[in-house]
Amino acid sequence: MVFCPAIRERTQTILHFFLPHSSQMGAPLSSWPWQNFGSFKYLLYGPLVAMAVGSRAWQEGKTGQVWCLHLLLLFAIRGFVHQLWWSFSSMLFLTRKRRIIKEGIDFEQIDREWDWDNFLILQIFIGAMVFYLFPSSREFPLWDLKGLFIALLLHVAVSEPLFYWTHRAFHSEQLFSRYHTLHHSSPIPNSFTAGRGTPLEHLVMSLAMMVPLLGASFVGAGSVGLYYAYVLLFDFLRCMGHSNVEVFPGGLFEAFPFLRYLIYTPTYHTLHHTEKNSNYCLFMPLFDALGGTLNIKSWSLQKEISSGKNIQVPDFVFLAHVVDVWSSLHAPFIFRSFSATAFRVVPHILLLWPGGFFTMLMMWGWSKTFLVSFYNLHGRLHQYWVVPRYGFQYFLPFAKNGINNQIESAILRADKLGVKVLSLAALNKNEALNGGGTLFVNKHPNLRVRIVHGNTLTAAVILNEIPKDVKEVFLTGATSKLGRAIAMYLGRKKVRVLMLTLSTERFRKIQKEVPVDCQQYLVQVTKYQAAQNCKTWIVGKWITFGEQRLAPPGTYFHQFVVPPIAGFRRDCHYGKLAAMRLPLDVKGLGMCEYTLERGAVHACHAGGMVHCLEEWTHHEVGAIDVDRIDLVWRAALKHGLRPV
Ligand SMILES: [Zn+2]
Ligand SMILES: [Zn+2]
Repeated sequence: MVFCPAIRERTQTILHFFLPHSSQMGAPLSSWPWQNFGSFKYLLYGPLVAMAVGSRAWQEGKTGQVWCLHLLLLFAIRGFVHQLWWSFSSMLFLTRKRRIIKEGIDFEQIDREWDWDNFLILQIFIGAMVFYLFPSSREFPLWDLKGLFIALLLHVAVSEPLFYWTHRAFHSEQLFSRYHTLHHSSPIPNSFTAGRGTPLEHLVMSLAMMVPLLGASFVGAGSVGLYYAYVLLFDFLRCMGHSNVEVFPGGLFEAFPFLRYLIYTPTYHTLHHTEKNSNYCLFMPLFDALGGTLNIKSWSLQKEISSGKNIQVPDFVFLAHVVDVWSSLHAPFIFRSFSATAFRVVPHILLLWPGGFFTMLMMWGWSKTFLVSFYNLHGRLHQYWVVPRYGFQYFLPFAKNGINNQIESAILRADKLGVKVLSLAALNKNEALNGGGTLFVNKHPNLRVRIVHGNTLTAAVILNEIPKDVKEVFLTGATSKLGRAIAMYLGRKKVRVLMLTLSTERFRKIQKEVPVDCQQYLVQVTKYQAAQNCKTWIVGKWITFGEQRLAPPGTYFHQFVVPPIAGFRRDCHYGKLAAMRLPLDVKGLGMCEYTLERGAVHACHAGGMVHCLEEWTHHEVGAIDVDRIDLVWRAALKHGLRPV
């Protein structure tokens, strides 16, 4: 019988789940039967949703099926608890000083943890089975304090030792590679790592959770409140332990030493992940103490990290701003799965828009420039800082000074910290705003941090896209900073540049900057019709459909206009915004830069990076030095940056 490969694979994984080990298969209960289902796995919640909806469980008097609704609600909140811990730990402006492992989470880890929520599907079915088998459990009162005490007692007496000993067993040679290596394969723990494990591990975890709940229920002290409280507290503590952020005050365990044995800390469990031979407990280090597996560094390290003194100064800062409310929802501390892919407006983001709008108003009123992300390259720490201003605010005359003040204080902070290069992104280097950064350099002549607009590399990327044999180009936005540099560079190479501008004065000024024998190659044009026979358009200003229609078929539209032009013509090519791909040895990068693909950054970002890697000592502000275009390009390639 011939199976299609996908069906065969799925059948095998389903068999894995239920059948004993055979030589062709992995160990039983080591992989999820729905692991190849993609997003279709969520259909598994279907029967429960159908039961809750079909029985109208929310109506009064339908107590028989309310358990089903509670189960779904509880599991939705469980997912939300993991998401909240992710958001908290990734808000680097709050947590940067208390991070335990300093490296960032890269795309590879994000992809590996994509299906972190498999355990919720398993456990909701276990929950449903329990309610199905014990109909009496469907009629719980809302709350019974006695049940809480019984559950706590059973947790300490049964769940903790059960988890401790099975966890130690999972670290044995026979079991580790089959069942536990998955959980340990995430280099940087985070709340989603807490959920990532094999079915067998989660069955043990389910048992540890069920004993206190069922125990309390069997003695008649079960309640709806107990189920919510215990399960959510359990998740909360699991997420906390994996958050990679030390949340307890340093002095707490010195003031109350007995607490050391009652509650673990994020540092405590992170030590288990990094060293793997100690700190096996679920939540109570008491069991490590009894089992002789306590890591003696647990509290000294906890104290050191919570002091917040152990921070690394970045070598390079890319000073970005928010484009609009939509793009603000692409921040890594919102949805990791969203920020790890190129930005686009997707339906589930629509719901967050009002929150994003409100945040924009709050940031306008109160926020200062803040740290949003980072990565490491060639042993140097690179950070993204964000000026709390949105694209439209740069065009409000009354907002200009406020924005410059924000940028200035960010520069001064970087200078004080010892940052080597700060690169101004997008509108933060707008000519009309601060002369491409000139304002700050003139005002603070003794800055140690180098201020860079990075546009020399942007010009280089655009120019290197243009085929070498081109004899004529048409240039719009011709007298802008980039337009001028592109025109001069091409003019010097004796390429005819049709420069679209109505200002003869500005055109002449640029023309005079090229050697006399090249000046004839720069030609002022005032209408798009002048480019009717030119197949290379370099667009630095938004152009309409009517204007694009004037280009001959087969035209290539190169562009440096933000936002990029909408491509109306099917018989033409449209270049993307100038960007470069980071070297392959970049570490800890897990966020896409706006609409760019993974691992790519805007050319001005790359320009600042090259400035830092080359240890150039000048500021790159104001007009582009055309003589440096080739030099910067070669330096970028030398450091492993590649055109996208
Ligand atoms: Zn372990
Ligand atoms: Zn863990």
